[in-house]
Amino acid sequence: MFEDRKRGLSSSINAFCPSAGNSARESRPNYRPVILGVPVPRPRRTRLRRTLRRMLPEHLVNRLRQALTRTQIKVDSVLDDPMQFRRPSLQRECPLCGFQGRFWTFGAPPRSEALCPRCLSLERHRLFHLLVDRYANSAIKDKRVLHFAPEPCVRARLGRMSRYVTADLSGWDVDCQCAMESIPFPDNSLDAVIANHVLEHVDNDLDAMREVRRVLKPEGAAILSVPIVQGWDETYENPDIATPEMRRTHFGQEDHKRLYGRDFHDRLRQAGFVVEIFRADPEREIRFGLRRGDQFFVARPRSDRGRGR
Ligand SMILES: [Zn+2]
Repeated sequence: MFEDRKRGLSSSINAFCPSAGNSARESRPNYRPVILGVPVPRPRRTRLRRTLRRMLPEHLVNRLRQALTRTQIKVDSVLDDPMQFRRPSLQRECPLCGFQGRFWTFGAPPRSEALCPRCLSLERHRLFHLLVDRYANSAIKDKRVLHFAPEPCVRARLGRMSRYVTADLSGWDVDCQCAMESIPFPDNSLDAVIANHVLEHVDNDLDAMREVRRVLKPEGAAILSVPIVQGWDETYENPDIATPEMRRTHFGQEDHKRLYGRDFHDRLRQAGFVVEIFRADPEREIRFGLRRGDQFFVARPRSDRGRGR
């Protein structure tokens, strides 16, 4: 009963709620998918997307979109750092796809040797893969997993090993369109929630953390990462910084709402989690082309759940 990506949206919903599978109902325009017995909003359909979907099978549309994205990422890398292939570099290894060789430049500002040219994984995706290897059996394998803002190189693996649903506020290739502050799942219904570089984008991160805690089972885990300025004691937030240009200047990216300091895990504790930090050792950071000191937070609901709420 696990997800088969080739069967698309309905199969991932059925993996959570077997009674929801009904192709006749799915074909009705007002049908809302049901996950774990709860109707959830479907991704928005623009006129272009509706036209493309009518003209082409869904899997072809997705392949076309992925091919265009891959090409755009690689062209951007070459344009951002045209001299990168003339510089000496270490032979890196990608744990996701097995690639061995030179990693490419990526990011704004550009980070050299960040991008795997085969699967397009970045440093944090490769670190996440190492973390999954460590926690897969207990936290993810065969479990109910909700993945926010799913990265293609990560979702491919998770979709194979878990009962897997994807979510995003605006993405169109996801199962559920929702904000992290209002997750359309019942209390205690999920084994894991994954959000990799998402919390710095949401309007109210504490609300989002509490919402994740609400939907997690008592033995579940949230696997989270955010950009952190290690030299800062406290997170930098300023509601007066509202334009994309100002946000890029203050928070590093046009759609970032804050830049976290070392108090990030204090915020998780405030939301009711016990927090464990995962890092790779220095040798693995070099071998897999990770950022030095990059970390993931494995947040589990504190056992005093319900008290003080
Ligand atoms: Zn790779």
